[in-house]
Amino acid sequence: MHQDDTNDIDALHQLFDHIIDEGVGVILDTHSFDALHVRLRELMRPLAQAIVSEAGEDADDSQVDQAARAIATRAALDLWNHTPIPDNHFRPYKMDKPERNAPCPCGSQRKYKQCCGAVDSPSLTLPPDEMAARVLKRLPKERIGEIGALGVPVHTLGMVAQAWFEQERFDDVVALLEPVFKDVRGLDERAELAADVLGNAWLALGDEARRLELIATLKRAPDKTLKSAAFQREATLNCDRGDFPAAWAAFGQAQRLTPNNPTLAHLEVLLLLADGREAEARARVDFWTAKLSRDPEFDHSELIGLLHQMLDLGRVDERLAALPEDYPERRLLLHVEIEGIEPPIWRRLEVENSLTFAELHDILQTAMGWDDAHLHEFIVGEYRIGPAFEAEWDEPALPGEEVELGQVIGRKKSFRYLYDFGDGWSHRITIEQRLPSTPTERPAVLLAGKRACPPEDCGGVRGYYRLLNALARPDSEENRETLEWLGDYKPDAFSLASVRKDVASLFRRI
Ligand SMILES: [Zn+2]
Repeated sequence: MHQDDTNDIDALHQLFDHIIDEGVGVILDTHSFDALHVRLRELMRPLAQAIVSEAGEDADDSQVDQAARAIATRAALDLWNHTPIPDNHFRPYKMDKPERNAPCPCGSQRKYKQCCGAVDSPSLTLPPDEMAARVLKRLPKERIGEIGALGVPVHTLGMVAQAWFEQERFDDVVALLEPVFKDVRGLDERAELAADVLGNAWLALGDEARRLELIATLKRAPDKTLKSAAFQREATLNCDRGDFPAAWAAFGQAQRLTPNNPTLAHLEVLLLLADGREAEARARVDFWTAKLSRDPEFDHSELIGLLHQMLDLGRVDERLAALPEDYPERRLLLHVEIEGIEPPIWRRLEVENSLTFAELHDILQTAMGWDDAHLHEFIVGEYRIGPAFEAEWDEPALPGEEVELGQVIGRKKSFRYLYDFGDGWSHRITIEQRLPSTPTERPAVLLAGKRACPPEDCGGVRGYYRLLNALARPDSEENRETLEWLGDYKPDAFSLASVRKDVASLFRRI
């Protein structure tokens, strides 16, 4: 789909969302169809304007008025008939579609068929869940407790509670949902979301006892899915505490209750990884991948992706844990040079080996003169180290934020820094000397350097040489465009004093 179309559809979606919300507000505040119609007429005017001008007519005001009036009438009828009214036992007021010869509900005093009924306008999509949620979120606090008794579907309550939870209205979530779980006999899997949100609210409120109580209550539910959800919660809880026998016992219960529930896949892999049983986790991911992809009813590709991601992260955690915590602190004298370019573009720096690779990345970007506009990666012996969560390879890189130079450099003489996987700038970083650490000085200092780093996105080493050639023959017509693109780039320019200051300012001292 074209980008503009997507934006248009988004904008339209937002407009309708706003209109529906406003309409619901007017109905609840005024209980008046006429007031609703007046408000919708205002809100629909921009849309009416668009429709009239789309029809190729000169948008004269009365035409726009009439269009807005007709669309508003249709929308008002839809909204009126689908907005559950708290004082009406959460049932909508109802108004039949007018007879053709009846007076138009827009108040025009004309017959419906000659007024708004004559215009073909689309109806609004107003699913009951969504409408109930729109109403509930406007309900005054003191009435929240009543809702449970009013026959609002429990899944809707879950949705409303979820929205409140995201607004950190934890007390309201509790007030809304606590009554629901007083008696679990009539509840089924549709209560799962509500149960989840309530449990999370207790957690957010720091009330561990109530959370456990909720789990215990749900374990008594006659509905298997709900009961299984409770055991799954218990498993997670025990896993967080490091009590794996209890976690596995709860998992086993959940598995017996709902052996085919896909959420078990996630839980099982989570438990195996937390329990340090990586090989089994890998085997189970294969098992679940095969099983889930055979499901003819649902597309589980998102869950399957998540399972594989969990394995990757587990592997990263494991490799991070295997790195040495302690290493001799040193100040490294580094020589950095972009590979494959003559005359060389290079810098010489001193850095403390207690810096992280993420910090070294910032230092190199500044020292070289890059814009930090692309992905990067360090290759240090067998280690690949990059920004967290950016790698999409089979074997994800270790997160540069969490690895210090001293943990992996050891006795190595050099390592590499790749910047921009498109242009492929490879920097060879040679460790020229290992000096005693000087913690009282700035952790990184630029000492020397030559030549400007290539312009971003110039096409790698080959593109860079093309630029040099163009600069050497500025009068040639074919080079004109290239030189315009280059601006005032000077390949041999490098101001040590100013770049040294930039590097220093990365580590401002108070
Ligand atoms: Zn009318």
